[in-house]
Amino acid sequence: MNKPPNESDTSAEDATERRHFIQQIVEKDLAEGTYDGRVHTRFPPEPNGYLHIGHAKSICLNFGIAAQYNGLCNLRFDDTNPTKEEDEYVEAIKEDVRWLGFDWGDRLCYASDYFDQLYDWAVQLIKAGKAYICDLSAEETREYRGTLTEPGKNSPFRDRPAEESLDLFARMKAGEFPDGTRTLRAKIDMAASNITMRDPVMYRILHASHHRTGDAWCIYPMYDFTHGQSDSIERITHSICTLEFENHRPLYDWYIRELGIYAPHQYEFARLNLTFTMMSKRRLLKLVEDGHVSGWDDPRLPTLCGLRRRGYTPAAIRNFCETIGVAKFNSTIHMSVLEGALRDDLNEIAPRVSGVLRPLRVVIENYPEGQVEQLTAQNHPQKPEMGTRQVPFSRVIYIEQADFREEAPKKFFRLVPGREVRLRYAYFVKCTGFVKNDAGEVIEVRCTYDPETRGGSAPDGRKVKGTIHWLSAEHSLRAEVRLYDHLFCKADPDDCDEGKDWISNLNPNSLEVLTESRVEPSLADAEPGALYQFERQGYFNVDPVDSKPGALVFNRAVALRDQWAKIEKGK
Ligand code: ATP
Ligand code: MG
Repeated sequence: MNKPPNESDTSAEDATERRHFIQQIVEKDLAEGTYDGRVHTRFPPEPNGYLHIGHAKSICLNFGIAAQYNGLCNLRFDDTNPTKEEDEYVEAIKEDVRWLGFDWGDRLCYASDYFDQLYDWAVQLIKAGKAYICDLSAEETREYRGTLTEPGKNSPFRDRPAEESLDLFARMKAGEFPDGTRTLRAKIDMAASNITMRDPVMYRILHASHHRTGDAWCIYPMYDFTHGQSDSIERITHSICTLEFENHRPLYDWYIRELGIYAPHQYEFARLNLTFTMMSKRRLLKLVEDGHVSGWDDPRLPTLCGLRRRGYTPAAIRNFCETIGVAKFNSTIHMSVLEGALRDDLNEIAPRVSGVLRPLRVVIENYPEGQVEQLTAQNHPQKPEMGTRQVPFSRVIYIEQADFREEAPKKFFRLVPGREVRLRYAYFVKCTGFVKNDAGEVIEVRCTYDPETRGGSAPDGRKVKGTIHWLSAEHSLRAEVRLYDHLFCKADPDDCDEGKDWISNLNPNSLEVLTESRVEPSLADAEPGALYQFERQGYFNVDPVDSKPGALVFNRAVALRDQWAKIEKGK
């Protein structure tokens, strides 16, 4: 046996080391019985936009931890900002989380369900002398707050008697005052080094309809006065956030402590950043609203609905999230890592078919006119269990324009006058000539075939170096094919020229539409969203929105690492 010594000892250690820091914290808490053996997480989106791949990291983490440790995970909408939030987003978020493969069971929660409780808690803090109504304007409040290097100044209303604050707070709720005229603020410390702790606003006046509570309220709690208590109400054990909330943790803890309620613990991890794209919902909204993309589900966007439409699978996204891990420092992941995760999944599951993106007509001169034969093609060369299908062959076929050259170096192993090439699953053909149009473009290639080479090998043992794909012209189906490139030209879209903004870095060539592509007849009834590998061209899906029987539309999800590269090295 060649087993390295102590393998069984070290593998247990390795397994522990492979756990990311949040898993390690959960395991420690479980071992110490910190929450009576409970693990309860939540994914807390604000319904002000569509989810993106960054959210997927948080979803996989929160739902993943719950699943791994036999716990629960809530889906909670942090809906405290009625002017930005809509039901459309709530529904889209639910769909995306479900699509990713996660289930919140009966634990669909809304911060807005806690508005009464939050109001009562605000009253409790006023009574305890821990909060006051402040009449400073937004502008003045900012001025009084100070800066990173200078302490703030106390508001002149800070020592207002609790009775007066209670009265004003009730009247704010009753709608007596216009927007922005008063706020409820926590009385903490205007000199705190953490600016978040300088008497933060708890409630603001906002005469706006809420997507769930309608016009019941005209004052709304701030996110910071809502988030920690929502976690407390739901008895969350591990409240997992991105790093930008680290500064807010002391404030969440302060509210919880002053209110004397159940205390979850917050842990922060690094948000996902990806090259050549961006994830701010505000910016994605701008791209959608200004028509730079076709909608939230534009396949070039990093939104989950965009990725889904592009042909991404839930498994690919989950595997990607697993691969990138969870850390405490910010970094940027290269887009190729995400694409690689998709390729790995589709390589396993996508049936192989032929698609000719830019067709060039080829006439096989010695093939009988009117003859059609059915040839057997494998659905997945490495997986015989995925079966075979019949593909028609006839005298006129299409090949890729790029697979023919009038003149070519010796190492171009595709079609060249006088040279022979293998048609995948069919015959050897030899190029005898070509036809050009007035513009000098090759519009037809002439060949002869060797009937002895049916199936792709010659009885005399002669070899050809190149294999190309093809489609019988009369049997093939016309299709629109959409090819995508990065949404931005620069890896960091914020890396702008003087005086320009990130919009200037949009890639003008991020979408290429081919309207004359051809696919094999077996795709006539392809289901919306179905995934295929077009051999040598990449992975494609049937566009779930625009594709119709008789008017097929395919999206290239991701290009291929050409598996036939070894026979084409000279390219
Ligand atoms: P954005 O900055 O894109 O507008 P957000 O943080 O405002 O996003 P929320 O709806 O508040 O969006 O996010 C819900 C959860 O998803 C939060 O816990 C947030 O930390 C997490 N999240 C958001 N963006 C990322 C990201 N890029 N990587 C990991 N987690 C993220
Ligand atoms: Mg946010």
